[in-house]
Amino acid sequence: MDQMIPKLFGTSGIRGKVWESITTELALRVGRAVSTYVKRENSECKIVLGYDTRTSSQMIENAITAGILQGGCYVLRLGMVPTPVVGYATMKLKADAGIMITASHNPPEYNGIKLWNPSGMAYTQAQEKAIEKIIFEEDFHKASWDNIRKIEDVSSVIYDYINDLLDQVNIEPGLKVVIDSGNGAASLVSPLILRKAGCEVITLNCQPDGFFPGRMPEPSLENLSELMKIVKATKADLGIAHDGDADRMVAIDEEGNMADFDKLLALISSKIGGKIVTTVDASLCVDECMEKVGGEVIRTKVGDVHVAEAIVENQASFGGEPSGTWLHPDFCMCPDGILSALKVVELVSNQDPLSKLLDNLPNYPTIREKINCDDTQKDQIMEDVREKLPQQFDDVLDVNLIDGIRISMKDGSWVLIRPSGTESYIRITLESRTIEEAENIKKTSREFIEGLL
Ligand code: MG
Repeated sequence: MDQMIPKLFGTSGIRGKVWESITTELALRVGRAVSTYVKRENSECKIVLGYDTRTSSQMIENAITAGILQGGCYVLRLGMVPTPVVGYATMKLKADAGIMITASHNPPEYNGIKLWNPSGMAYTQAQEKAIEKIIFEEDFHKASWDNIRKIEDVSSVIYDYINDLLDQVNIEPGLKVVIDSGNGAASLVSPLILRKAGCEVITLNCQPDGFFPGRMPEPSLENLSELMKIVKATKADLGIAHDGDADRMVAIDEEGNMADFDKLLALISSKIGGKIVTTVDASLCVDECMEKVGGEVIRTKVGDVHVAEAIVENQASFGGEPSGTWLHPDFCMCPDGILSALKVVELVSNQDPLSKLLDNLPNYPTIREKINCDDTQKDQIMEDVREKLPQQFDDVLDVNLIDGIRISMKDGSWVLIRPSGTESYIRITLESRTIEEAENIKKTSREFIEGLL
């Protein structure tokens, strides 16, 4: 029966183009479903609601609001805020759920809906399935006229967020930081927090604008060329860029180069120490840095909700993906690109320039490739890869099936084969200690997979 319920949620909430998959009708149903899901008998339920800078966000917000009210819950309205503020407010205001309207790093014609638990943690796949089931079966709670609740403005919780966030770090004042929010949801709050932390702040693309006139919301190398130039030209200590909803952060060093994602993750992980969680596609640099400080690395599936689940399960002190999505469980279970930025500023303010901190770490060649593959062929190919690809290497240490197939070699090299969840590709990610060895592993893996097509 479960298989017959159409899937609405992808790897990060509901996401799509406005009027294709994201409609006001869908938003109304999601509002009704979440309201139904959290509503308990005779209890007063509250749902936090926020949105990003997209042109369609207020329209979607109003439809969700109507849905929440229909279910008899209060709407705690945040207005335009970064995703981590929704997670924080849900926790701080002891709400029963949080809803963020955003398409994160997608282009302006997209939007999406992501759901949050009272701890600030994203809804798990099981919870998302429960929401899909309520929508599919139209099993909505409808409040009687005398049980319809109100909309409350809770936008001032942003000041608690700012103060609590600043308590998380110990920053020496005086650093010059260029912040590029990409006209997204962190445009106002991220520069304010950095100034309060004692930084001299230069803003770039910090006017909220759903057309994203400054740059596209994906903080990729191509989209950050202007930021990199400005960091160098202004002799800043650091550049920070966010994606559209600021659950992610990218750092630029004082020379104007984008900090390597894996190395930055390794640096911050070893600074925090203890047990940390990362995904199967992160560099062995993370393991080596953690080994040095006597820490432990737990590997999980790609995706911030999997990282969050592994943090809870293992009582870990930190979790991060190479994409720049970091979770700080001492603060909140929602990935927070603004707190992540503060952590990097803290490192640099108390130690060396960022380029020097990163240069001290081992440099291992990483290769990320994709092979075109029809969706219908993916399962068979993955089965053949699991059965036969390890035999193509002569120093295999172990084969891990947490997410795709990850083959580790005795010298620390590894290769990960994963089918793309959204596109017609098989992805190959690999890392080795030398470029020659990395090329060998790539050649072997690529030829083996192409031989199956
Ligand atoms: Mg995001």
